[in-house]
Amino acid sequence: MDLVIRARRAVIGGCEVPATVSVRDGRIVAVRPYDEDLHPGGAEITELDDDVVLLPGMVDSHVHINEPGHAEWEGFAGATRAAAAGGITTLVDMPVDSVPATVSVEALTAKRTVAAGRCHVDVGFWGGLIPGGIEVAAALHRAGVLGFKCFLADSGAPDFPPLSPDGLTEAMRALRELGAVLLVHAESDAEIAKHPAARGPSYAGFLRSRPPQVEEAAVAAVIDAARVTGARAHIVHLSSATALPLIAAARRDGVRVTAETCPHYLSLAAEQIPDGATEYACCPPIREAANRERLWSGLAAGTLDLVVSDHSPCAAELKHRDTGDFGTAWGGISSLQLALPIVWTEARRRGIPLTEVARWMSERPARLAGLPAKGRIAPGYDADLCVFSPGETFTVRVEDLHHRQPITPYAGRRLHGVIQRTWLRGRDIDPAHPAGRLLTRLEDPS
Ligand SMILES: [Zn+2]
Repeated sequence: MDLVIRARRAVIGGCEVPATVSVRDGRIVAVRPYDEDLHPGGAEITELDDDVVLLPGMVDSHVHINEPGHAEWEGFAGATRAAAAGGITTLVDMPVDSVPATVSVEALTAKRTVAAGRCHVDVGFWGGLIPGGIEVAAALHRAGVLGFKCFLADSGAPDFPPLSPDGLTEAMRALRELGAVLLVHAESDAEIAKHPAARGPSYAGFLRSRPPQVEEAAVAAVIDAARVTGARAHIVHLSSATALPLIAAARRDGVRVTAETCPHYLSLAAEQIPDGATEYACCPPIREAANRERLWSGLAAGTLDLVVSDHSPCAAELKHRDTGDFGTAWGGISSLQLALPIVWTEARRRGIPLTEVARWMSERPARLAGLPAKGRIAPGYDADLCVFSPGETFTVRVEDLHHRQPITPYAGRRLHGVIQRTWLRGRDIDPAHPAGRLLTRLEDPS
């Protein structure tokens, strides 16, 4: 044994229980009762206090790292350092907002080349699926991406155009053959065109430019395509709770569709966003408090499967904080390092246990990304672990964040939950020695 952790509180099998976790060669080899006699065989024994909880390392399957091309927005070293500080031990990089976008094997190679040797946590990659990209998708799949992402509306990136409704069905048919999941940014181009574009600093105006119908129409299109093709689809960053009944009904029919939401939709509310405060700009937008509460109900009901950061940085000037113009400001919120404390702070307030948060932020994202060794504390899993102090509070200070860009809507917020320590494959994460691996899809397990 290399490491034995004795925890009076550990999240194991969906419950918080006392346990002793033994690690050898980076893997969990045994999970035993806390009181069982120890025969550590020379291993280092770590005894945890009873005011902390041993969690599986979080898995964030929605992170935009902008290297290569926009390293000044966010790079692999900084993003993975932020992840580790936030209790995240695995992340999956989105294929858009770097140059080139990950829509070819060459682009994936470029990503992997800049990431190699720089990552402090394990990193996997989604591939991008754009019009005409089906053959390329098969090559990316062979090259090891964990699945694919597409848009149904303008992505803001000229090299990442959206799929048409027919293109979506065609893409899903191809991915069904490959056995790969399609992640969809579910905002409808046609629906956006029916509403006046956002202009100026009015947040209400920004919200009117992307009303709930924009998401509902796109979610309906995704469900239709998943239904006729039998493919597996995943709705990323759902903001509008009005789309939840569509998803719930589709699942009752056996359609293979899952959905995620994000810390900002679960913690912030339109009523509290000042005009001109473009640090809150993201697409789809943060909606009213009543909508936020319905998202929490969707998580409780299991209609929403998981919570991921959608960490989406940009150069500070692209936020146009000087003019506060929501029509031109970059849409995206950076929260990688804060995602777990934000979600825990809100969950705790609603009487939701940490076991649920671990399910949403570790087990389910690992399952989405097809990472069988991640997301749980159990024998055979990677020893990716996090010591979390749920009762401790801190105030968000920009200077404590490892994010490359300092803009955040969370500055000054008081949050519950302090990450005390993280292990990656049984080793303490050391900011001086990046030990993260680049993950590839396992060969077809069937
Ligand atoms: Zn995103």
